[in-house]
Amino acid sequence: MDNLNENKLLEECCEDLFGIRIDPPERRDKCDKCKRPVVVCWCRSLPNPPLNIKSSIVILQHPAEEKRTLRTALMLQLGLEPGKCIVYKGKRFPSSKNLAELEPVLNSPNSLLLYPSKDSVPIECVNTQSVSMGDLSFESASFTLVLIDGTWPQAKAIYASSPMLHRMRQVKLIAAGNSDYIIRTQPTEGCLSTLETAAQALSILERRTELRQLLIRPLHTLCKFQIDNGAVEHQSKEFRIKNQQYPKQIGKRLNRLLNYSTICRPEAVEDNIVNEIDAALQQQPQES
Ligand SMILES: [Zn+2]
Repeated sequence: MDNLNENKLLEECCEDLFGIRIDPPERRDKCDKCKRPVVVCWCRSLPNPPLNIKSSIVILQHPAEEKRTLRTALMLQLGLEPGKCIVYKGKRFPSSKNLAELEPVLNSPNSLLLYPSKDSVPIECVNTQSVSMGDLSFESASFTLVLIDGTWPQAKAIYASSPMLHRMRQVKLIAAGNSDYIIRTQPTEGCLSTLETAAQALSILERRTELRQLLIRPLHTLCKFQIDNGAVEHQSKEFRIKNQQYPKQIGKRLNRLLNYSTICRPEAVEDNIVNEIDAALQQQPQES
């Protein structure tokens, strides 16, 4: 290559470089909607247009939940028509900040708290019960589903410090199946993320089986991306303990085991699981 050509090539390279410099400094561009880096944005998997539902959803979110990178409440919000899913943040509800908005919702006979208390009934029973009791007719009514979003200990603490929640009609999901949310280790079989819980409850309440699948698609996209990029597909802790694959440190404390997103199980079932896990731990070969 002679000097002339070499200079020309250099010039072209410089032009390219200058071209690059004109652009703003490189940073990890984030999607405006999901706030994820654009390369891993899951918005393309959202229902389009957003789903129109009869019910509304209110999420009572523990402040720490918002900081999780794999949070799912936003997927629910973006999958539904604007205003159909409202998130309130706090450690007890209502608070002075949201009293005016929340009090009527939490006191309404058409609001259902999805929480596995002793008084909760399977969500499938909601219509039947109302009809057989000759109570208010819920056939044409639209419901507000209220969910607590946080780890299980956080959800329990929110419930304990929010007396207004205790007086609500309470429902639960039974035989919910395993979570699609395989990235965050789930402590027990049947444990669901907030998105899955809401999607499943909506499907049942509105008698529209397609709702669940449509709403959880972004979760599949997110999980697939994580797995393609080397995240291990977690089996639940319960499964691994049963199969004696769980490392010894799990024995440190069971409350860490219960560190999972809100799940709708009756307390009694939860106690059984804890006992089962205790038993499994004792059977594990002791290593020192
Ligand atoms: Zn996005």
